[in-house]
Amino acid sequence: MKKVIVIGSGFSGLSAAANLAHKGYDVTVLEKNATAGGRARQYEAKGFVFDMGPSWYWMPDVFDNFFEQWGKKRADYYDLVRLDPSYTVTFADGDVMRVPATMPELEAMFEKYEVGSSEKLRQFLAEAEYKYKVGMGEFVQKPSHSITEFADMRVLKSLFRLQMLTDMRKHVHSLFKNQKLRELLEFPVLFLGATPQNTPALYSLMNYADMVGGTWYPRGGMFKIVEGMMKVCQELGVKFLFNQSVKNIYVPNGHATKVITETDEFDAEIIVGSADYHHLEQEVLNPEHRNYDEKYWDKRVMAPSCLLFYLGVNKRIKNIEHHNLFFDESFDVHAHDIYTDPKYPQKPLFYASAPSKTDPSVAPEGCENLFILIPLAPNLDDTNDDVREHYYNLVMERLEKWTGEAIRPHVIYKRSYAHRDFKKDYNAFKGNAYGLANTLMQTAFLKPKLRSKKISNFYFTGQLTVPGPGVPPSLISGQIVANEIAKTFK
Ligand SMILES: Cc1cc2nc3c(=O)[nH]c(=O)nc-3n(C[C@H](O)[C@H](O)[C@H](O)COP(=O)(O)OP(=O)(O)OC[C@H]3O[C@@H](n4cnc5c(N)ncnc54)[C@H](O)[C@@H]3O)c2cc1C
Repeated sequence: MKKVIVIGSGFSGLSAAANLAHKGYDVTVLEKNATAGGRARQYEAKGFVFDMGPSWYWMPDVFDNFFEQWGKKRADYYDLVRLDPSYTVTFADGDVMRVPATMPELEAMFEKYEVGSSEKLRQFLAEAEYKYKVGMGEFVQKPSHSITEFADMRVLKSLFRLQMLTDMRKHVHSLFKNQKLRELLEFPVLFLGATPQNTPALYSLMNYADMVGGTWYPRGGMFKIVEGMMKVCQELGVKFLFNQSVKNIYVPNGHATKVITETDEFDAEIIVGSADYHHLEQEVLNPEHRNYDEKYWDKRVMAPSCLLFYLGVNKRIKNIEHHNLFFDESFDVHAHDIYTDPKYPQKPLFYASAPSKTDPSVAPEGCENLFILIPLAPNLDDTNDDVREHYYNLVMERLEKWTGEAIRPHVIYKRSYAHRDFKKDYNAFKGNAYGLANTLMQTAFLKPKLRSKKISNFYFTGQLTVPGPGVPPSLISGQIVANEIAKTFK
C-alpha cells in the first residue's frame, strides 16, 4: 500500500482521504488544528453550539454521492431537514421576501413582484437545470490540466448553452425587470466569491441548486457533515493526527519523500496538500518547488473575507428565520468596496443565521444562537478591535430595527472573527474566507493547477484550485485529486 499524507482536514482533505483509502492507499491526515473540519469547525460556549463557517447546505446530491460511493447512506450519518422558507431577504423599504421551498409558491411570489415573471422563472430554471446537470455532472469533475479537456465537439456545443461567455448580471437582467427579483437571483453567485458582472452565466446553476434543490440543514449543525465524513474515513482505515502543523516537504531530486511538521517527520510516497494553496506553495515548499511566484498570487482575485460574530442571546428573537439576508443597502456599492476599491464598507450588506430556529440542540432552552456575517475585502487591516465593535453596533442596530426588538442587551456570549483569525487558524492567504473567486479568468484550466509541476508526487486540492469555493466543490476537489493520483500511481 502506498503511503499518502494528506495535509489538512477540511472538506477537500477529508474527501481526498476517503477516496484514496477506498482505492487502497495507506492514508494519514495531518491537521494543524486540534479538530477536523477546517473552515467548517464547530465549538461550544455557554451551552451554544456554533458552526464556525458554512451554514448553507445546498446540492444535497453531492453529499449523498459522497456516502453512496462506498455503499453507505448519508442518512446513517446525519439527518437532513429541508427549510421552508428557504431564507428571507430584507430590502431597504422594509419589505421582507420569504423565499418559499415549493415551486407553485415561488412562482406566485415572483408574480407578486413582476407580472409575467413566473413564466420567465420557469425558462430561467430550465436553463439552469441543464447547466447544473452538465456543469456538475461533467465540467466540475474535470482535473482541468489543460484546455484540451474541454475541446471535444459535444463540450464545445454545450459551451454556448452553458453561457460561459455571458455574465450573470446580463443574463438575469435580460429576463427580469424588478430590482428585488434581480437581487434575489444574483445572490447565489456570491457563494462563488465574485460579483454577478464577473461571473459566467453558467453559474445560474446555483439558482437551480437554490430554488429547485432546496436549502437543507443537518440536525446538530453543519459540523455533522464533518463528523460523518471523518467516520467514513476511519471506517476506510484513514488515520488522523491533530496539532501537526506542516512546515516543510523534503524533496530530493524532484520527488517528495518526507513531510516535516513542527514536532515530527513522516515518510510519504504521495502528498496531497489541502491547506490553502498559497500557504503550501509560498510558505511550506522551498522556492525551487513552487508552481507560481508571489506576483502570480498577487494578481489572483481572491474571494472575500468576512467579519463574523458568534452570539448567544438569552431570549428567542421574533421576525427572523433560520437564514436571513439583509439587502437593505446598495449591493453594488458594497461590492465596489470589496472588489474594485478594497476598503472597509460604510454600508455593508449582511447575513444573519439563527440555526436555533430549526434546531433546539444548538442553544440553551429559550435562547437563540445567532451568527452574523459581513463580507469584506481580503487583506484589510484587522488589527483594531474597535473596528470590529463599530461593525457589530452598525449591523445590530439594523437587525434590531428590522426585527423590531432590542437584542444587544440580551447577548450573553459574543465572539468576533475576521482576517487575522483566518490567517492564524488556516494560514489563509490575505485572510480569505472562501478561497479563490470563480471569475471567468479563474475558471477550470485557468485556476492554479492541482498537480505540482516541480514535484512528481505532490498534489493540491481545496477551494483555491478546481473546481472552486464552497463545500460541494471542495468535496468534489478531493475526489478529482484522488482519481488523478490513482491514474499515475496505480
Ligand atoms: C464564514 C464562512 C462561511 C461559509 N459559508 C458557506 C456556506 O454556507 N456554504 C458553502 O457551501 N460553503 C461555505 N463556505 C465555504 C466553505 O466553507 C469552504 O469552501 C470549504 O470549507 C473549504 O474547504 P477546504 O478543504 O478547501 O479548506 P479548509 O476548510 O480551510 O481546510 C484546510 C485545512 O488545512 C489545515 N491547514 C492549514 N495549514 C496547515 C499546515 N501547515 N499543516 C497542516 N494543516 C494545515 C487547516 O487548519 C484546515 O483544517 C464558507 C466559508 C466561510 C469561511
